[in-house]
Amino acid sequence: MTDVRESMYLVSEFAKDYFNKTLLNSEEGKAIGLSYFKERGFTNETIKKFSLGYSPETWDALTKEALGKGYKLEFLESTGLTIAREDRPFDRFKGRVMFPIESMSGRVLGFGGRILTNDKKAAKYLNSPESDIYHKSKVLYGIFQAKQAIAKQNNCYLVEGYTDVIQFHQAGIENVVASSGTALTPDQIRLINRLTRNITVLFDGDAAGLRASVRGIDLILEEGMNVRVCAFPDGEDPDSFARKTSHDDLVAYLEENSKDFIQFKASLLMKDAKNDPIKKADLIRDMVVSISKIPDRIQREIYTQECARIMDISEQVLVSTLAQLIQKDI
Ligand code: ATP
Ligand code: MN
Ligand code: MN
Ligand code: MN
Repeated sequence: MTDVRESMYLVSEFAKDYFNKTLLNSEEGKAIGLSYFKERGFTNETIKKFSLGYSPETWDALTKEALGKGYKLEFLESTGLTIAREDRPFDRFKGRVMFPIESMSGRVLGFGGRILTNDKKAAKYLNSPESDIYHKSKVLYGIFQAKQAIAKQNNCYLVEGYTDVIQFHQAGIENVVASSGTALTPDQIRLINRLTRNITVLFDGDAAGLRASVRGIDLILEEGMNVRVCAFPDGEDPDSFARKTSHDDLVAYLEENSKDFIQFKASLLMKDAKNDPIKKADLIRDMVVSISKIPDRIQREIYTQECARIMDISEQVLVSTLAQLIQKDI
């Protein structure tokens, strides 16, 4: 560990504590930040578990506090907490509720900060910039709080957002992590692969969520892992759905609606492809592309059989299409 990175970790840890104290103890934090979290249904226990915080509206509240405690401007800047300005450096996060992003071992790498309104024009979340300690493509939000449950349940729920992770914990489901805004990457999948070979994708019930799920499937298959997908009703995300559902109903919903990727693609796309031979052919080709990503031959064969059965097409055709695709890869 270089001294530079260690100093970046230390100032990030300081910022996490500062934002958390500000949320819980300052008048502004309580009136604005804490009441926002309460409105979203977050308990004190949850706020503590995820070290949630609030960054004041002031120009340089954190920067000043940190400098006063002896932290160097250099590291406030390299972590992105402070934005350089010749004579008057200022805080990146102002007037936002704060979600610290932690590594597998619980070190603070960066932050996500949410505005408190639902103003469609402003960027809802602002994140720390890439830095020597924060590599967006290699991080999963919630992995520190989830790792034991993922190993124990031998499954990992993959959601899109911070609040999805948090609301699931409150609902008693702890084996959950979020890709948090970046498109899912192989490095993120490999992080999960250290704990389990099974991923259930739970993306938002909107067009963007569906696209992301479809893209995620192939990436997960390529890593040789098992993927299931559970769709949410239109307009719901795991957070909003969990909030209005009891623990038992949520568990039952996840169990009943989690499908393997063949079933998922079939149900999703058959809706508009049912009576259209061209669309159906496209869909089958798309399934075969996914199957071709699976490294294990026996698994490929099993999914090929399933695809043939569900789509009512001969296995031979699928096998030869698959052979062409795999040939191309080599
Ligand atoms: P909320 O429930 O607080 O409105 P969400 O998690 O449902 O938020 P989505 O719009 O579904 O928000 O986005 C999913 C995730 O993508 C967010 O949790 C956040 O990590 C990331 N994200 C969303 N909007 C932005 C943005 N403007 N800039 C950066 N990241 C974003
Ligand atoms: Mn969304
Ligand atoms: Mn969402
Ligand atoms: Mn949401």
